[in-house]
Amino acid sequence: MQKIGFIGLGIMGKPMAKNLLKAGYRLVVFDMNPEPVRELTQLGAEVAKNAAEVARESEIIITMLPNSPDVKAAVLGQNGILEGAEPGKILIDMSSIAPGASQEIAAKVAEKGVKMLDAPVSGGEPKAIDGTLSIMVGGEEELFNQVKDLLGCMGKSVVWIGPVGSGNVTKLANQIIVALNIIAMSEALVLAQKVGVAPERVYQAIRGGLAGSTVLDAKAPLILKRQFAPGFRIELHLKDLRNAMETGNQFDVPLKFTSLATEVLQALNETGKGRLDHGAIVQYFEKLSGV
Ligand code: NAD
Repeated sequence: MQKIGFIGLGIMGKPMAKNLLKAGYRLVVFDMNPEPVRELTQLGAEVAKNAAEVARESEIIITMLPNSPDVKAAVLGQNGILEGAEPGKILIDMSSIAPGASQEIAAKVAEKGVKMLDAPVSGGEPKAIDGTLSIMVGGEEELFNQVKDLLGCMGKSVVWIGPVGSGNVTKLANQIIVALNIIAMSEALVLAQKVGVAPERVYQAIRGGLAGSTVLDAKAPLILKRQFAPGFRIELHLKDLRNAMETGNQFDVPLKFTSLATEVLQALNETGKGRLDHGAIVQYFEKLSGV
């Protein structure tokens, strides 16, 4: 089996890396946080002292980091992947970052003969654990075909989209849709509560109708139980919406509702709620309505 490098063992990266071990891949890992590294070591992964060493020790390197600057630092920075990677190695960045940043990083690593795919995911921690993520991939189709089975150990739906950066364009579309869904359900549930109609009953009544959705079923029960431990942090969703706004500005697309959603998430972030799950968006509407 090929040796895979894995950098970024957070909420998503840790279970994804575990699934690769389960599938029989040899793994070499690195994270700035020693705790998940220790956990992976106990399961049989090797540890590297930095990203450059991961790149030296593995054939395919996966990154699962918060945002564009983190991926740039891990790939292009001191002791980064590019320092350790030889021509022929493959980089798969599974983080959700700005599409323009994916293209910039891919161009830089190509100068050293390293090929890159951007392959962000959707589905959250539960699907990362089950290995049933949706993975949206940008880059050369031939390269995608080479790593499709590897990605299949982490995801149920693995779809090639187009050239590098298009995986992250798709992820921005996904994040706009998810944010606006959570905002809509939050506003609606707060309205019901303020009028005096039990939000639990409203959810039970509407989930089988046209308003039913994967987002509603994933988030409404957590909102109703007031469970706001992440999951997907508001600060990360805000990062995605800002990347969407930046991309919209570049291409002259006025993202009116994404702009409003960005304001909502920014207000929550500024009041210390950035590390809560994005289900806590409901608190913005509760505060507005005095619930
Ligand atoms: P996280 O903050 O839990 O994990 C990020 C990990 O990267 C941390 O362990 C951190 O120590 C490590 N890290 C940061 N910079 C590093 C560096 N330079 N070198 C080595 N390690 C470094 O984040 P997460 O929730 O796992 O999300 C990761 C990515 O996946 C983000 O882009 C996020 O938007 C996306 N995503 C998250 C979810 C979710 O539900 N959490 C779902 C889909 C996509």
